[in-house]
Formats: sequence, C-alpha cells, structure tokens
Amino acid sequence: MINQSPINQELIAENIAHVRARIAESAQRVGRLPQEITLVAVSKTKSLDYVKIAYNLGIRDFGENRVQEALEKQAAFCLPDLYWHMIGHLQTNKAQKVFGAFRCIHSVDSLHVAEALQRVAEKKSQASGEDVRQPVLLQVNISGEASKEGMTPDEAPAIARQILSLSHLEVQGLMTVAPLVDDPEQVRPVFRALRHLRDRLREEVGDANWDQLSMGMTDDYPVAIEEGATIVRVGRAIFGERVKK
Ligand SMILES: *Cc1c(COP(=O)(O)O)cnc(C)c1O
Repeated sequence: MINQSPINQELIAENIAHVRARIAESAQRVGRLPQEITLVAVSKTKSLDYVKIAYNLGIRDFGENRVQEALEKQAAFCLPDLYWHMIGHLQTNKAQKVFGAFRCIHSVDSLHVAEALQRVAEKKSQASGEDVRQPVLLQVNISGEASKEGMTPDEAPAIARQILSLSHLEVQGLMTVAPLVDDPEQVRPVFRALRHLRDRLREEVGDANWDQLSMGMTDDYPVAIEEGATIVRVGRAIFGERVKK
C-alpha cells in the first residue's frame, strides 16, 4: 500500500459539513429544499477507510468510476443502507458485473451499452425467475468536448426512445460532466442545457419520470443545484485531492 499517511477524520467531517451547508444555501437561493438533492460522495482512488469514515458521518451514497474498484469496495464493506453509484464510462464487457450492483448507473452513454445491460438482465431474470430492473441515467455530452463521454443532445431523443423500450432498464433522468473552467459561472449554461434537454425529453419522449439530473462536482455543484441538479457527485471537496495514478 502506498499513501499510508493517516486519514484526517476531523477534516473529512468539516468538509462534509461544509458541502452540506453549501448544498442547503444553493437550494435556498432558488427556492428548493436541500432534501431534494442527493449528495454522492465520490470515493474513487480513495481507500475503503475513507468510505467507512464518511459513512459514519452520515453519507449513504458513494460514487465510483471503475468497476473493479467499486466491486472490491462493495464486497469489503456492505451495509443495507449503503448505496453505490457507477459514474464512470462502461465497457459492454463489464455489463455482467455492473447490472444490479449499483443503486444507479449514471453513465449509460450509448444504445450499445444499454443493450448489453438488457441482455445480461434477460439472462439473470431467466435464471432467477425475478424481473430485475436497473435504474440508469443517460449521460449527455452537453459541451461537445471530444474528451467527454456521452451522447450528443441532438441524438438523445432517438437513443432515449430506444433505451426506454428495454424492459430491464429504468431510465430516471440525465447525467453530465461539465468542462473544467476557472469560474463555475462559465458552466452554468451546460447545466441549464441539461435541464432543458430533460424537459424536452419528458415532453417528447415521456415514458419515464425523467426526474433525476446528476450534475455538479467539487468545482461547480452550487451552480448545478441552482440549475436543478437532484444529484451532485462530489469527491475532492469531501476526501481531498486524489493522488494521480
Ligand atoms: C471524479 C468524478 C467526480 C468527482 O469529481 P470531484 O472534482 O473530485 O468532485 C464526479 N463525477 C464523475 C463522473 C467523476 O469521474
């Protein structure tokens, strides 16, 4: 194990309190309730000790971007009220491992991935006799940056219609990752565009509740909340900087 320095539990407690306060302030500014917003603590690259500390401080939702790392943590620390979210790009060959293992898969970014999940689910349903359904969000690349995953806003309606016909996926809304900028106000239009796209899908495609908007990270979650985020994914503001791997 590298990175053996002791974890500063008090600092994590302060960080969580600070993030919660900013979530409440941002919600209040636009007449929303803080309870409408789920804080997903992004624990990627951080050891399980960080997850345990955050859990003991009241965090219940954790986000991971790598399947293997997520499943290892899940196996080592499993509680009935601890929930995992998949927020990283999925390869279709991982569908078997991720289906059913997460409260929500935020990163369904193509029909191809959705169909892989559906195929796995069909087999699982046949084997277990149970009708399994996986909550998912559709990841949209609003900014159009080449480095970002996600379907384009233009192709989203057509892809959404096809994904909604997959019986084992429960589409709950949209997710996006905003570009890195110095001033979070610069990405407000990205969050606003995701909300508008959601409203459009709700009208034109329907067939799902479309309630969830997963948007906002350490640098920009207050702005995302002002623009309607229902889930914010916050890593560094809770756990500190990540060590580059
Ligand atoms: C890493 C990551 C986050 C958290 O980023 P921070 O800047 O540490 O808050 C959120 N969403 C996704 C998709 C990520 O990969």
